[in-house]
Amino acid sequence: MKIELKDLSMQFDDVLAVDRLNVTIREGELVSLLGPSGCGKSTTLFMLAGLYKPSSGDLYFGEKRVNDVEPENREIGMVFQNYALYPHMTVLKNIMFPLKMSKVPKQEAQERAIKMAKLVHIEHLLDRKPGQLSGGQQQRVAIARALVKEPKLLLLDEPLSNLDARLRLEMREEIRRIQQEVGITTIFVTHDQEEAMSISDKVLLMKDGQYQQYSAPQHMYDKPSNMFVGTFMGSPPINMIPVLYSQESNSIQMNETESTLSLGQQIHSSYGPNMILGIRPEDFVLVEDNATEDVLTARVTVVERIGRDTMLNATIGDKHIRVLIEPDVPVQQGDIVKLGVRPNRYHLFDKE
Ligand code: ADP
Repeated sequence: MKIELKDLSMQFDDVLAVDRLNVTIREGELVSLLGPSGCGKSTTLFMLAGLYKPSSGDLYFGEKRVNDVEPENREIGMVFQNYALYPHMTVLKNIMFPLKMSKVPKQEAQERAIKMAKLVHIEHLLDRKPGQLSGGQQQRVAIARALVKEPKLLLLDEPLSNLDARLRLEMREEIRRIQQEVGITTIFVTHDQEEAMSISDKVLLMKDGQYQQYSAPQHMYDKPSNMFVGTFMGSPPINMIPVLYSQESNSIQMNETESTLSLGQQIHSSYGPNMILGIRPEDFVLVEDNATEDVLTARVTVVERIGRDTMLNATIGDKHIRVLIEPDVPVQQGDIVKLGVRPNRYHLFDKE
């Protein structure tokens, strides 16, 4: 089912929790709502679920406006952070519960519940109670229960946050597998950019209730629309360096240093002259010592070996940067290095 948010807002007393969101989610897509704590993700999800009524704007499920449709009539399945399983019921009874509520005959309900249990790989646990299951298993039960009525939209509210790191990885792959097998339109709330990057068709990044960018995760990483997006996506974070832009030479100069970089393509002329240059740690390249054009001169302050790679902490003028290099390059603390930037891998932002 296609979902449309049109100028959707939610005001709580003096807090504008969601500020005029306009987003279309296509049928069968998995979209993450991403952003720091308090940016309005859960409020948006609760409006989709029908638990909050929007203070203004419209919400469409397919062609139907659902602002006033009660949660139980929206054909949605929801999984909460704490799974909210019924502790006194077996796994089978938990999964059957939504069908029992809507008066599906017992035999049919049981068959459908078992089919769901198979889908989420817990058919061997049907007689257990939730207290006898691991966190990952409990979550599988919650997903089976959310899907058993064959809803048209699946809502997941930070479903991985109570799991340890290893299980989190496993379960996010599982959620993606199950979602693709069922083909259900899914909205996934998370504050973890890596999680959103790995699982989603598209990411909606929010800040202070407002839309920042809505695109495929790789596109958001490669083409961040502003400094906030650039900084939020990526770990270790992007380097943000204040620069002066010269339209005449189509080049940028690091403030208070001799370093200049000429830009391949002409940038929009309304920019500048004070701008922020964003370069991800992996987009620097070490260049020959005698290179003089289009290089930044940096002094290495700390060399960190991180698994396969080496991270240099360095300074350009008084600006601290991080540079990811190959592990076998002999660079030491105190060295002066010349850095180039991979073609088209710089980002220019207006100062915020
Ligand atoms: P997130 O899920 O991104 O952490 P929320 O949607 O929970 O953010 O909250 C967005 C903003 O709305 C926050 O400032 C929060 O304090 C506020 N808020 C959320 N729910 C309520 C509520 N029921 N009453 C008043 N303010 C709320």
